[in-house]
Amino acid sequence: MLAKAVEDKAGETKPPLAKAERDVVALGIAVAAIILFVATGGTVMPQILRAWMGNGTGPDMLLTNAVLLNIALLIFGWRRYKELHKEVAERRRAEEKARLLAETDPLTQCLNRRSGTPAINGLLDQARAAGRSVAVFMIDLDNFKQINDLNGHQTGDRVLTAVAQRLREQMPAGSVLARMGGDEFVCAFGHESNGREGIEQFAARMIEQVGAPIDDGRVMVQPTISAGLVSTEQDPLTAPDIDAAILIHRADIAMYHAKKNGRNGYFWFEPMLEDELRLRNDLESAIRRGIPAGEFVPFYEQQIDLATGQLTGFEMLARWKSPRYGLVSPEVFIPIAEEIDLIADLSECLIRQALVDARDWDPDLTLSVNISPLQLRDAWFAQKLLHILVESGFPPSRLEIEITESCLHENIGAVRTIVSSLKNQGIKVCLDDFGTGYSSLSQLRSLPFDRLKIDRSFVAEMTREGANSDLVEAIISLGRGLALPVTAEGIETSEVLSTLRTMGGMKGQGYFYGMPEDADATRHRLAALDLLPSRHARPAPVLEGVPEVIPEDRIKAG
Ligand code: C2E
Ligand code: MG
Ligand code: MG
Repeated sequence: MLAKAVEDKAGETKPPLAKAERDVVALGIAVAAIILFVATGGTVMPQILRAWMGNGTGPDMLLTNAVLLNIALLIFGWRRYKELHKEVAERRRAEEKARLLAETDPLTQCLNRRSGTPAINGLLDQARAAGRSVAVFMIDLDNFKQINDLNGHQTGDRVLTAVAQRLREQMPAGSVLARMGGDEFVCAFGHESNGREGIEQFAARMIEQVGAPIDDGRVMVQPTISAGLVSTEQDPLTAPDIDAAILIHRADIAMYHAKKNGRNGYFWFEPMLEDELRLRNDLESAIRRGIPAGEFVPFYEQQIDLATGQLTGFEMLARWKSPRYGLVSPEVFIPIAEEIDLIADLSECLIRQALVDARDWDPDLTLSVNISPLQLRDAWFAQKLLHILVESGFPPSRLEIEITESCLHENIGAVRTIVSSLKNQGIKVCLDDFGTGYSSLSQLRSLPFDRLKIDRSFVAEMTREGANSDLVEAIISLGRGLALPVTAEGIETSEVLSTLRTMGGMKGQGYFYGMPEDADATRHRLAALDLLPSRHARPAPVLEGVPEVIPEDRIKAG
């Protein structure tokens, strides 16, 4: 196919018909010249010889002229032949150049995406004929965007070239190495049966060798790669029908998992990964459709003053009422929404609904909402939030934003600016899941938080047999030292509640006080507590048509 494309390309400059005509004419001239030379030369030459030897008269003038013309024709023909020869050689060179350009990546000199796949198919045919298997690696540089952003594209190109060269040096003879685009390479090679262990050793060596520092003359870059591995040996039943496209796709899925597993390593393809990917893609499209369809709704979890037992407010927790998957946990859909860049849209629509729901609750009740670290990367976040507050007529002083410790790893300067401008608007800011991240004391002191929330894992730890509550106590005293009030999450039992009560004044929340509920159930609860000034409670919640909750471990795996 590729060779044909190149041939066609070369044919554009010299149409095949003109070339055939020219060859026929040249052949005709050569044959005619030879016949003429034999005929005239055969008569004239003996006459000339006889005349020289004094045995006869000179040759006939007409015939002599014909021989001379014939000789001229032969010289002309020879020259034409040489020209043609040169032309053909030049055309071959041009064709070869065009083929190389069409097949190789100009930066790394590897095969490109277009030629890589047929080359692997060729390798598969050879391997099948020889009763061997073929392994395919999908290789991707880790954090290549960062290398480019930090050091410039020139350094990025230099890294790509060096990595390609190192891969080439590692590859067994007869293997295929192609750059599939960006920082992605695919390499394929034939191997004997039962080769899994050897392939793994090879992959580990390759990862190690490619990871050596690259000196750009200006900066030193230490690249790492992740590799997805697949071999036709893994699936002997379908091996005869497998082609390069399928192997590349599978190696790609495995590579994605190598990345998920912490990068700088390899991962074998397993059929289960393909199902997970399908589920993950389905979830992604369902989330895209579900946001405008209003399938994402706020649920509310009570927050209690532990000393008095009084309700002080609610934390809004997102739920997805999916017609297909049932009631889905935010731990499943928030990470996907973050990855597909829909978290801001999703969060804004949830906060809007929550502010409307909470508007006519008792004015002393607060509302806490969780914010993704990605939203804090938006310099306009505080303004957008203020806009939503104004639109819904909800007082900023009743709103509390929960940000997780992981936000502090991001650009701390930008987080500080946003936190400060939220506080200037009267919104409270609280550090969620405290103790699970790595925030330093100086970071904690430098950010004007209003509250710390002890992660529920520490509270749960208190109930474990033999465990004590030292850690929770330490966090509480840290909060006290920083003059920050504390909320304990995940209170499930009266024992935990009693222990926490002995540790001083704090707020708490957890299933002990009830599961998170939707807006209508929350209104009923508030009406019963006389905390709904309008007293127009809406009807009880109905989760009609919502099927069983999809097993989280299944969705999470994707
Ligand atoms: P979080 O903010 O730490 O929320 C507390 C989580 O603990 C909630 O899980 C809640 O249902 C659960 N929980 C509360 N009490 C107990 C208890 O006694 N025992 C146990 N085992 N769990 C308890 P949920 O609703 O699944 O939310 C999980 C996380 O998802 C939240 O953790 C929060 O980080 C995130 N999230 C929820 N809604 C949103 C949202 O609208 N936006 C963003 N960005 N994240 C959200
Ligand atoms: Mg929270
Ligand atoms: Mg939390």
